[in-house]
Amino acid sequence: MKISKYNIIKEIDNKILVYNSFSKASIFLEKGSDTSVFENIEAFNKADKETKKVLTENGFVVDDERDEFSEIKYIYEQKYFDTNFFNIVLVPSLLCNFKCPYCCEKDYTCGKENVKKYFEVLKKYAKKNFSKHNVVQISLFGGEPLLYVNECLDFLDWVQKDSEKNNYKYFTSVVTNGSLLTKESFKKLLDHNLYSLQITIDSDKENHDSMRIFKTGKPSFDLLIKKINELVPLSIDYDKFQFVLRINLNNTNIKKVKATLEEIKKENRKYINLLIRAIYNTHAYKEKNTNSVNELKEYFDLGTKLGFKVLKEKYNYQTCEACGDRKFFNLMPDLSIWKCINDLGYDKCCIGKIDDNGEVILKPENVVNWYKSCMSAFLDKECIDCKMLPDCLGGCPLYKCKNKGKKSCRSFDMSSLPFTY
Ligand code: SF4
Ligand code: SF4
Repeated sequence: MKISKYNIIKEIDNKILVYNSFSKASIFLEKGSDTSVFENIEAFNKADKETKKVLTENGFVVDDERDEFSEIKYIYEQKYFDTNFFNIVLVPSLLCNFKCPYCCEKDYTCGKENVKKYFEVLKKYAKKNFSKHNVVQISLFGGEPLLYVNECLDFLDWVQKDSEKNNYKYFTSVVTNGSLLTKESFKKLLDHNLYSLQITIDSDKENHDSMRIFKTGKPSFDLLIKKINELVPLSIDYDKFQFVLRINLNNTNIKKVKATLEEIKKENRKYINLLIRAIYNTHAYKEKNTNSVNELKEYFDLGTKLGFKVLKEKYNYQTCEACGDRKFFNLMPDLSIWKCINDLGYDKCCIGKIDDNGEVILKPENVVNWYKSCMSAFLDKECIDCKMLPDCLGGCPLYKCKNKGKKSCRSFDMSSLPFTY
């Protein structure tokens, strides 16, 4: 037997966390505990039978002949090329009724005139392609996707019929600012196998109302809290559905975020999954933020204490949604296909388009460029030796594409900690 390459030992909150980034197993030990069984095979050999069993079953100690690195690479590549599951992110328009300053899409005004054509061509594409997959996820994104709720629901009605006829499963997800959501549209989305709906609050009322404002200048904090409290009870019988409340940390503190979370009725909290993120700079937003990813655990703890669920990391052996190759793309208002839309000024993320007949025309050089970026961790000496490789997998592909392969290492808190929650 040998010690796994991926045992990470960290002191957290006066405890010792031992975490294996490959198996995702974690153990909390009292401060001062002897951790040698996780680091040294001689110490492991001297341990009692029960300890040995726990350590081997949880991947902290592995068979001599196991090559964990090659296994991770295999799983990652297998996921990269697997097309059983397919996720299309629909961006029918970049228009929004909010004007959040950090949104990379805030300056776009185009799109409205193309929405009809967008869904017509999308249907042609879907007719030719959705039935090739066992499961299709349709994610509604924007802009604000619910500006076109009727068009979206009409398309989902079509998908429902097509999936029955052609024997595939489909489910949906929505990222919305929440302002246009009604009980009626929410119920309809739930009946289209809604898997996740995400609404964002910026830190606290004061902060939120200065950032997430309607184009008219009207604030939105009170409206969104009211909607969340009204809508969550409608979803409790849908056991596969996740209501996601994203809290953006932006020059805030724990006391203010606590006040925000306490606005959510106690009986609703256990049905809400918290996703907490520190706002970071993009090409469209360059402001100072006193909050960073290193504080996330404190906020996760707060959420748990108040009765919320903390959203589990879902990108197992995948660095982000955008490294899913053929099983993932964003379909933009002009029917171009993008791997990542976090920087629309960087057009190498555009890997092709769908023509008027619903046929995909790829840009091979951009497909390969993205592939190289997604695979680079397995060629990089530092990544190969990194204990966080199974969680981080080399980090943001977009960053590497833009910076000639240079990687931006993630901290443990960002890469691995979400898996222990
Ligand atoms: S910005 Fe990077 S990490 Fe985020 S979705 Fe795009 S490629 Fe993935
Ligand atoms: S990018 Fe950095 S943190 Fe991520 S696997 Fe590579 S070396 Fe590790």
